[in-house]
Amino acid sequence: MKQTIFYGAGKNAEDNFSAWTDLGMIPVCFADADKTKHYSKFQSSEIDILPLEEAILKYPDFELYVTPTSEKWESIAAYLAKWGGVPLAAIKFFEPVEYRKGCPSMGRCFITYNKIGCCCVPVYRDNFEFEINSDYRLNFRYFEEKSKAVIDDWRNNRPSICDGCPNLIFGIYDIAPVVEELNISSKDNADFCNTKCIYCSSFPKPEQATYEERGREVIAMLETAHSLYPDHKFRVYVSGGDIAVAPFRDKLFDVLKKYAWNADIYSNSAVYCEAAAEQLRDGQSAYVTTLDSTIREKFAEIKGVDCLPKVLENIKRYSEAAVDKRQINIKLIVLDGIYENFEEMGGVVDFVESIGANLWLSCNVYNADKRLSDGMFEMTVRLLNYAFNKQIFVNIMYDHFNIEDAAMLRNQWEIIQGGIT
Ligand code: SF4
Ligand code: SF4
Repeated sequence: MKQTIFYGAGKNAEDNFSAWTDLGMIPVCFADADKTKHYSKFQSSEIDILPLEEAILKYPDFELYVTPTSEKWESIAAYLAKWGGVPLAAIKFFEPVEYRKGCPSMGRCFITYNKIGCCCVPVYRDNFEFEINSDYRLNFRYFEEKSKAVIDDWRNNRPSICDGCPNLIFGIYDIAPVVEELNISSKDNADFCNTKCIYCSSFPKPEQATYEERGREVIAMLETAHSLYPDHKFRVYVSGGDIAVAPFRDKLFDVLKKYAWNADIYSNSAVYCEAAAEQLRDGQSAYVTTLDSTIREKFAEIKGVDCLPKVLENIKRYSEAAVDKRQINIKLIVLDGIYENFEEMGGVVDFVESIGANLWLSCNVYNADKRLSDGMFEMTVRLLNYAFNKQIFVNIMYDHFNIEDAAMLRNQWEIIQGGIT
């Protein structure tokens, strides 16, 4: 039997010690970084508080339970693993989580046409994807098995299908993640859309019959998810093409309403959809729209359709439907060689500010070898500064960038947020 050491003899341990011991968690000692506590006893007990290295030496077959509150777990676990010499498997928490390599996407089920995957990062998803089986229940079982195998690779530090992806980072993750998010995503030209963006990979568009089959499959997968996990409140990502013009639009929103599931709705905002606006009135769902420029000519060049006034009007209508303006997210895609000056991108930030939304920053490179030009990189950093000074929340989609650009951007963003520039 493992020897239980509690790491941290502070306030949270004092408040919860009796509850933990009632559960049979009796530590052989405490370890703590605070030298003033060393060699004293914990509260009125006979349990020693020792320096970490001494505790480990004394109890070599140990498990170390991190006692502080959850916001400190990640930094403490990183410290224990890196500087304390504690094996990852020995770091424990009082919740079913662990410290390991991981990614928030894993556990999110991506339902693309005919296939299921774990994320939308093109160079990696092919390694995970499998064909949808007409026995829809099997798809979820198989998805869970495949996800578990990848997580086991991460946990045991083995090579994995995700090596090299900037989203694969150490953190606190569920030990056994369950499918909580369903992503109706686009691939293999399976979705209709009413614009023709220059960065779109979904051309040519599908035949009507193909698209109807896609609609049947999507609804069947959602209903199967409910029948397998009836108590589960899924979050559904409605992306791929534009749901506002999809023939299965109403059926899909009916399912969401029937089960009171929240959604992230991705759209180009060229057409207003009342069912999507209604979904936003739940206060939990989110709306994500691209807005490539607020300069009409540039917008038309990128989108392939001259409809900027309508798009701006529709986004404002969705914003009015949302309970919280932060439910609205405006995505700007860094397009090297397309934007010629800062104003072509910066106007999007002004619009985001005017409606109190969030800004998402994406790129159309997706981990490929192609680097951003120096000029484009500088313009992107300037844009981040501009947004930061307007106190706009920015979500940088690092996995959409070349991996080296992503690392440099992460660094620049930390500097900006640290107020160094
Ligand atoms: S490829 Fe990247 S984003 Fe996709 S599951 Fe792996 S780590 Fe996550
Ligand atoms: S909105 Fe999306 S699906 Fe439609 S053309 Fe643009 S990138 Fe393609």
